[in-house]
Amino acid sequence: MFGPNSMKKALCGCGELVDLDTETVIRKRLLGKRVECVNCRNRRIALEKESMERHFLGLDEESSGCISI
Ligand SMILES: [Zn+2]
Repeated sequence: MFGPNSMKKALCGCGELVDLDTETVIRKRLLGKRVECVNCRNRRIALEKESMERHFLGLDEESSGCISI
């Protein structure tokens, strides 16, 4: 198996290089998830939080139909 210090460079969608250990890269591939840098992850979490708040406030009528899980 891979050692704990086996790091890999992966490219985020924004062009940022991300350091990940090999195990994480393989797991993400298996799950079909994209590699994200810290900036993109923070932005996504912020957006999810915002849409969650909109949902609870009943303001999500416009965005119905484009929810992906
Ligand atoms: Zn990114």
